[in-house]
Amino acid sequence: MKEDLMRLKEEAIQAIDNLQNIDELNSLRVKILGKKGELTQILRGMASLSQEERPVIGKMANEIKDDLESKFSEKMQILKKALKEQKMQQEFVDVTIPTKISIGSKHPLTLVMDEIRDIFIGLGYEVVEGPEIELDYYNFEALNTPPDHPARDVQDTFYITENILLRTQTSPVQVRTMEKQKPPLKIIAPGRVYRSDAVDATHSPMFHQVEGLAVGEGFTMGDLKGTLVKFVQEMFGHDRKARFRPHFFPFTEPSAEMDISCIACAGKGCRICGYTGWLEILGCGMVHPNVLRNVGFDPEKVNGFAFGMGVERIAMLKYGINDLRLFFENDVRFLKQF
Ligand SMILES: [Zn+2]
Repeated sequence: MKEDLMRLKEEAIQAIDNLQNIDELNSLRVKILGKKGELTQILRGMASLSQEERPVIGKMANEIKDDLESKFSEKMQILKKALKEQKMQQEFVDVTIPTKISIGSKHPLTLVMDEIRDIFIGLGYEVVEGPEIELDYYNFEALNTPPDHPARDVQDTFYITENILLRTQTSPVQVRTMEKQKPPLKIIAPGRVYRSDAVDATHSPMFHQVEGLAVGEGFTMGDLKGTLVKFVQEMFGHDRKARFRPHFFPFTEPSAEMDISCIACAGKGCRICGYTGWLEILGCGMVHPNVLRNVGFDPEKVNGFAFGMGVERIAMLKYGINDLRLFFENDVRFLKQF
C-alpha cells in the first residue's frame, strides 16, 4: 500500500505540473482526492492491514492528501493569475490611437442667446433671471396690465391657480429687479416663456425671450434707439438699417416696434419680408410711469426704457430657418449645422 500511495503522489504531482487549464485541474482534483477518488480507493485496503500498520499508513495518507491539496491550490493560483493576465492583454485599449468621436455643438438658440448676452454685457448690462412660475401680479398687474385690461389675453395664459401662472413674457423680471435694486440699473433677462398656442411653423407653447431694461435719470427715446441699433448691427451686420414704428404695450409709453432691413433682400422686397423690405424684430418703449410707481420709484425723478425680443425669431432670421419646430425636434442633422 505504501508503494501505491507513493506512486499516486508522484503521478498526481506530475499531472498537476503538466496541466494548463483550470477546468482540467478541477477534474483532476476530484479524480484523485474526491470522495470516490483514487486516494479513497487505495485506502479501502486499510481493512486488511495489521493493527500496527494502520496508523502508519493512515498518517502517510493524510500527509499525501495535505501535500496534494496545497499543490492543487498553488497551481490554481498560478493558472488564475495567468488567465487574468491573458484577459488584460485581450482587453488592452490603446487610448493614444486617434478615434473618430463626433463632438456635439451648441444649440442654435443657445448660440443666439449667448450672442445677445455678450452684446449687452459689452454695453454695460447685467444678466438677471426670474422664475418661470410667476405671480399674476408680476406678469400683468405690476406691468400696468390690471385684470380688466384688454391687453391681458386670458386665453393665451397657462394659469396654475387664479394668481399663479406660467409667465407669458420675461417682463416680470423687470419688476422683480426694480424692487431689489435702486437706479441707475441696466439689465437683460433671458429665459423661457409660455403661451397657450398650438404648435406650428411660427408658434410654440414654450419659447424664449430676452428682456432689457435701463432705468436712471434723463433717458430719452434717443438712448433707446441708439442702444437697439447698436444691438442689431452687432447681431446682423453693420450695414443693417433699422426703423421704429409706433405701437402699443401697456408697460411702456410711448411704445414702438423695431424693424430691420430684410436680411434676404437687403430691403428690396422679397417673399421673406412680405415684399416690404423690413422684418419686425422686437418691441420696445419708455417705461410707463405706472410701472415705476408700482416699485416705489418717482417717475418725476427717474425714467428708463425697456425692450423685449423673441430669441427664436432672432435665430430664424440670423440662420435663415423657416420653421420654429426645428428648434425643438432635436434632429441631429439640423443641430449639426451650427
Ligand atoms: Zn426681403
